[in-house]
Amino acid sequence: MDKQLDTAPCGYFSLSDSGIIQSVNQTLMKMLAYERDELLGQHIEAFMSVTNKLFFHTYFYPYIQLYGEVQEMYFSMKTSGREDVPVLLNGMRHERDGSVVVDCVVVMMKRRIEHERDVLKTKTQLEELYKATHEANQRLERLHQEYETKQQELIIMNEQLEMMASTDPLTGLRNRRFFQNSLQACLTAYKLSSVPFSLLIIDIDYFKSINDTYGHPVGDLVLSRLAELLRSISRDTDMVARYGGEEFVVILSECDEIGAMMAGERYRFEAESAKWGDYSITISIGAATVSEGDNEESLLHKADTALYASKTAGRNRVTHADQRV
Ligand code: GH3
Ligand code: MG
Ligand code: MG
Repeated sequence: MDKQLDTAPCGYFSLSDSGIIQSVNQTLMKMLAYERDELLGQHIEAFMSVTNKLFFHTYFYPYIQLYGEVQEMYFSMKTSGREDVPVLLNGMRHERDGSVVVDCVVVMMKRRIEHERDVLKTKTQLEELYKATHEANQRLERLHQEYETKQQELIIMNEQLEMMASTDPLTGLRNRRFFQNSLQACLTAYKLSSVPFSLLIIDIDYFKSINDTYGHPVGDLVLSRLAELLRSISRDTDMVARYGGEEFVVILSECDEIGAMMAGERYRFEAESAKWGDYSITISIGAATVSEGDNEESLLHKADTALYASKTAGRNRVTHADQRV
């Protein structure tokens, strides 16, 4: 055999038309770990596994008979140590010296297969990684949603707490704390806008005698019913609160002396006219309208003094702190 072909960088063998090995180069002998005389005269299928024999039979022979050549056929051969050697085979059938021969070259595919395996492994790892990332993202999303829900619940709970902390439990009106904050806010707004607001302090007349005559629970009922009445009469922009005991306060927004007297009179009249059952009640009211230099204390003091004046003048009446009204 030509030296170049013998040591070519690919395996070479030629077969008879019936598959008997007629010549083989050194490269193939090395590839399969056989000596030349162990290969020559043998059937090519002797160096294949059963499955590969079947494959060879089904494809190689019919194909090469039909088309005269086979290209890039992938199968595996067996070494003398019964190891598989994956190869890529090209074959060509032609006549030489009066008989038909099939020349074949084989290139080992081990590296390429290993490489393909590596690529596949990396791909699988990437897919697993992607899946894990996707799951982690979904978990994060769920946690985020839970966090949002909890945050909302917290906001609602805070609002409820805030509401509870600013509500009088017996009457459901705003409590003294809330009123004081509102008054402070109104005074600040007044300093900026100079639009006056007024304050009413409302006190039930002879309330002690209701308790004494009908009992404390009835007294409580009167307090909540009066609270409801005051709330129903008040404008949306006004703020009614229970100041303590049987005393209530109303902040009348954007309201001057005359407005305060009219509002006070309305409250007084409605309380006197309401149906209370076996008893009747009246209320006394002290009104004050904010003026420059007023603070929380001075305004409350003016309204309280006016209330005292209503009480001493016979109760069931409204007095404004400003004597001109
Ligand atoms: P005046 O016309 O001078 O205001 O007389 P009054 O009896 O209304 O005033 P006084 O200050 O003597 O009595 C107020 C009463 O209000 C005494 C107290 O027991 C009662 N009171 C205060 N808070 C409550 C409450 O939450 N429920 C009930 N039932 N009574 C209360
Ligand atoms: Mg009182
Ligand atoms: Mg009273």
